[in-house]
Amino acid sequence: MLKMPCLWGKLRLNNMKKKHITIVGGGIAGCMTAMELVKRGCRVTVVERNQIASQTSGESSWAGAGLAFPLLPWMYRDEVNQLALAGANLYQSVSAQLLQETGIDPEYMQSGMLIKPPFDETVATQWCMRNHVPFEKTGDDLLLPQVAQIRNPRLLQALKQWLLSHKVTLLENTQLLPIANTTTLNQWKTTRGETLEADLFIVTSGAWSYELLKETAVNLTIKPMRGQILLYQIPVNTLPHIVYQDGFYLLQRRDGYLLAGSTLEDVGFDTSVTEAAKLEMQAKAEAILPALKGMSIHKHWSGLRPGTPENLPTISQHPTIANLYLNTGHFRYGVTMAPASAKLICDLIFGEKPEIDPTPYRCLS
Ligand SMILES: Cc1cc2nc3c(=O)[nH]c(=O)nc-3n(C[C@H](O)[C@H](O)[C@H](O)COP(=O)(O)OP(=O)(O)OC[C@H]3O[C@@H](n4cnc5c(N)ncnc54)[C@H](O)[C@@H]3O)c2cc1C
Repeated sequence: MLKMPCLWGKLRLNNMKKKHITIVGGGIAGCMTAMELVKRGCRVTVVERNQIASQTSGESSWAGAGLAFPLLPWMYRDEVNQLALAGANLYQSVSAQLLQETGIDPEYMQSGMLIKPPFDETVATQWCMRNHVPFEKTGDDLLLPQVAQIRNPRLLQALKQWLLSHKVTLLENTQLLPIANTTTLNQWKTTRGETLEADLFIVTSGAWSYELLKETAVNLTIKPMRGQILLYQIPVNTLPHIVYQDGFYLLQRRDGYLLAGSTLEDVGFDTSVTEAAKLEMQAKAEAILPALKGMSIHKHWSGLRPGTPENLPTISQHPTIANLYLNTGHFRYGVTMAPASAKLICDLIFGEKPEIDPTPYRCLS
């Protein structure tokens, strides 16, 4: 493997293409970043402590609902929405490419999102007009017809297949240890005592990112925020739109599976599911869709979101380690943001002018 060059900050496109980049974490942030790097000609390794596209211990990307849009975006800062909308706009083409090149369908569907009261209609419609998001008033509800969903476990399977077919090295069941403070990172140790070398590393380790980097001079606030979800199996096309009401949503997949979620819990790395949350979510789901009454719950799971203040991710070079980058902390909208976030981190690495101003996502020491 190549040794680290010392003038890292001056690396540009052609130089970068020869480099070996290792990504730490094989969730949606890691896999989408790997895909973008491959498209730009890099040699890429993804290190994942479990299996990519599976759920073992709280990985958020598998567990999420796959709504490709923020819930009530007018409640968030513009910096959150600009990344989410940019990601949402890329999904149709990413999904079509993955289907065509892997045969695995991520099931992108523009099913629209129906928002039920309570919500501030004036604020909502003004936000939609300002951001060119089409909307329709239907009685007391607001329909955003272009909002899409994606089946995230399938999306991950497709990404994994795509990465394998593009000669990306996937080091699964390989966990990296926290790193110490340094100025350049030549090697990174695994829990099995192996040493991985690369020219540049990118941390995409979701809720576990802070644990990996806390010994370095970094001002990073990421903590796990558990989310639980229920899965029902009901007749196909029962729910034509994603439905959102009062912090809760229902969405149906093509084959009839219906997701009802989710909770937002600050319980550390505890990935268990609780009876109390199940009963509460069941009641909310039945209030929106009375046909669910008496139906059995097919599955109940949880995931650990990479929680950050104000839902703002970190997409940035590390403040003191020159060849370390971070693409993490996407909290509630990591699936939505992933394609745009991957482009942004790659633009920063390649020294290209990003379409999105990177300042709000910068990591400070
Ligand atoms: C219930 C729920 C519903 C959600 N719904 C939506 C939604 O509808 N839309 C949306 O946009 N977002 C949603 N989200 C949020 C979204 O899932 C996350 O923002 C996103 O998945 C974060 O992706 P990630 O790749 O950063 O993290 P993860 O998917 O958690 O991936 C991080 C990976 O890093 C690996 N890792 C950690 N430490 C190490 C290490 N030391 N060495 C090697 N590997 C390591 C982990 O095993 C993991 O696979 C939801 C989340 C939950 C829990």
